[in-house]
Amino acid sequence: MLREESTANDDLDLAGVDMRIRIKEHLMRIATSKPSLEAAELAKLATTELGVEDEDLVNFALIEAMNVMSLRRYVRVPADERVLLIPHCLRDPERCKAPIDDEGYHCLKCGACIIAEITRNAEEKGIKWYMVGGGSHAMRIIKNARPKAILGIACYDEAMMALAKTGEYGIPTQAVMLRKAGCVNTEVDLDDVLASFNLGNVVTVSTSSPHTYG
Ligand code: SF4
Repeated sequence: MLREESTANDDLDLAGVDMRIRIKEHLMRIATSKPSLEAAELAKLATTELGVEDEDLVNFALIEAMNVMSLRRYVRVPADERVLLIPHCLRDPERCKAPIDDEGYHCLKCGACIIAEITRNAEEKGIKWYMVGGGSHAMRIIKNARPKAILGIACYDEAMMALAKTGEYGIPTQAVMLRKAGCVNTEVDLDDVLASFNLGNVVTVSTSSPHTYG
């Protein structure tokens, strides 16, 4: 019985992943054939044509449409001039001993949460990262660090606010949406994050289930 339930959940997850891939590919196709569309129009057209009504997927489509809009400028920025913003809600709140200062939390890579993998991979790519405590903290860091491009991991609401702000500043930005939002114990798919580190080479969406830590 347990096995049957977990198989059903896996099927649901895969259906969501499959639709995210279709949305992303469809957005790219439409953006190529109709380059004058704004992000909201692009997302609306893609979700309508695909028959997407689920709120999370509609939100995903809008964020991805905004990503598509700034992708060309973003990929021109070398990795070492990009800044990665990681939300602290991905930490293991009980075990994390990361010290904090004006530049945010400094991950000790203890391995209790996904941030150890994210920061390790970012450093290998030469991408400077900050683990931030919220939207206003992120904005402070952007003002101080003055990055040429930003990659942010965020929930839908934070991503929309950040994209509006970085759009005002004229900084090309890419967002990776959290799979599970909230104030603590949030989740992101590691493969989505790692794929975003390689933007400029290929555009991909993960087909794997979220990694588990703990
Ligand atoms: S790996 Fe996660 S829990 Fe460990 S120090 Fe880094 S942020 Fe904190």
